[in-house]
Amino acid sequence: MGKIRGFIEYDRLKELVIAPKSRIKNYKEFTVAPNEKKLREQGARCMDCGVPFCHSGCPLGNMIPDFNDAVYENEWKSALDILHSTNNFPEFTGRLCPAPCEEACVLGIVKPPVSIELIEKYIVERGFSEGWITAKLPKNRTGKKIAVIGSGPAGLAAAQQLNSVGHNVTVYERENKIGGLLRYGIPDFKMEKKVIDRRLEILKKEGIVFKCSIEVGKNITTEYIEKEFDAILISTGASIKRNLLIPGSNLKGIAQAMDFLSHNNKAVDGQHKCDKKYLAKDRNVIVIGGGDTGSDCIGTSNRHGAKSVTNFEIMPKPLDYRTDENPWPYWPFKLKNSSSHEEGSHREWNILTKEFLGDKNGNLTGLKTVEVKWEKIPNKRPKLIENKESEKDWPCELVLLALGFTGPEKTLPEQFDLTFDKRGNIQGLNKYQTNKNKIFVAGDCRRGQSLIVWAISEGREAAHQIDEFLMGSSLLPKKNMSGDLIAY
Ligand SMILES: Cc1cc2nc3c(=O)[nH]c(=O)nc-3n(C[C@H](O)[C@H](O)[C@H](O)COP(=O)(O)OP(=O)(O)OC[C@H]3O[C@@H](n4cnc5c(N)ncnc54)[C@H](O)[C@@H]3O)c2cc1C
Ligand code: SF4
Repeated sequence: MGKIRGFIEYDRLKELVIAPKSRIKNYKEFTVAPNEKKLREQGARCMDCGVPFCHSGCPLGNMIPDFNDAVYENEWKSALDILHSTNNFPEFTGRLCPAPCEEACVLGIVKPPVSIELIEKYIVERGFSEGWITAKLPKNRTGKKIAVIGSGPAGLAAAQQLNSVGHNVTVYERENKIGGLLRYGIPDFKMEKKVIDRRLEILKKEGIVFKCSIEVGKNITTEYIEKEFDAILISTGASIKRNLLIPGSNLKGIAQAMDFLSHNNKAVDGQHKCDKKYLAKDRNVIVIGGGDTGSDCIGTSNRHGAKSVTNFEIMPKPLDYRTDENPWPYWPFKLKNSSSHEEGSHREWNILTKEFLGDKNGNLTGLKTVEVKWEKIPNKRPKLIENKESEKDWPCELVLLALGFTGPEKTLPEQFDLTFDKRGNIQGLNKYQTNKNKIFVAGDCRRGQSLIVWAISEGREAAHQIDEFLMGSSLLPKKNMSGDLIAY
């Protein structure tokens, strides 16, 4: 621990951001880097706790007090090595993670917690700007061949781990570019795509082979993959979108949030012009669904120049503090305001959409809602009660459905003859190993729609198991902290 009274001396630093009015004029990231002195002070706030709860809050088991201390001591290269020892891609999590570690930080009981995510982001940015992050080639090649299907954070983390111990890794991706939801789900204003490309260059130099625009099971057979490779990792995500099948759901002007976001991300990348059907400009937009995806739709609609943006959530408005049933260090179920909400949107809770309204040409003109309440029933899920008296029409010309994902697509796992768990996810019988010996599974397709940090963690763990399967034992790190404090 560097500074004994650092947590008393310094306040938590909130990262500066460009004002909403200016930042919605483009899709660039809008945070302003703090200077080195300020970052070191943030590192000095860490109390180096005897039992560092931040560790167990982090699904990767990041060694947080160690890198906090290294930053305070101005030993940035050492901080980077500590960070990379548990996390392949801190530049993704440092920008996009909801930071369960901070919610579990001991300092958080009495004061604002240590700014762990901010410190993480600027350690890795320093690493790139100093040229410390370079390709690390394996000393020997094992001759074993591994196919990774799906190039999201789970697939990429596994590929890097497996390549580092000398296996020959080929990553197959059905999209035209690598990155999974990092590339075509998450908008640039949360993470610019050059951040992915910068890391990809390193992975390519390390020897990983990337094959884009190849859908396994469609453009290339599963039989070929099984014959050609010694082990296979399926990391194809959870992309089946939940729908809202109510009267009027075929009207023009209703789109799935993910179709809207991926279309827009490709437009920002210069791959095409934004199609009129996905353009929010001068339209009243209603985003149905109050999660991360909904929030990304709000930020994107405001950047298009929407006339108004309204966000519906069927659940009650959360409190802005923890309740007694939800104590520290558990993940707090409290109200969250994302940067997109700050940019302008009207939010409604306890609201249910009953019908979409349209004109004679089949164009959406509005929707009908009722207010709902949730009745608690002992040992059962709360019951939804509609208030028929509260019916209301909302004018809108674009509706974005951000209702979550029900699980992974079934075609590929069925072609491989894999089994599913009760929730419809691909089943890892021996954690990451499926019912077929040489086929492994990691990320959202195994655990359901989750977080980047969990995808990286699963990719790393699956890599350990695959290496052990191929070689009899593995030197790849295995996590000893579980992050199970988080109830995602
Ligand atoms: C809009 C949105 C915003 C989000 N924002 C955040 C956030 O801010 N922070 C956070 O922590 N999490 C966020 N998430 C969740 C996070 O992105 C996911 O949990 C994470 O990307 C899952 O990683 P994955 O590697 O399992 O799968 P994915 O990232 O989904 O990648 C799977 C890849 O597999 C490919 N694929 C599928 N089938 C095949 C096939 N047969 N052949 C070849 N390739 C195939 C897909 O094209 C895709 O590229 C967000 C999710 C969404 C939808
Ligand atoms: S819990 Fe907070 S104060 Fe304690 S070691 Fe972790 S980051 Fe530092």
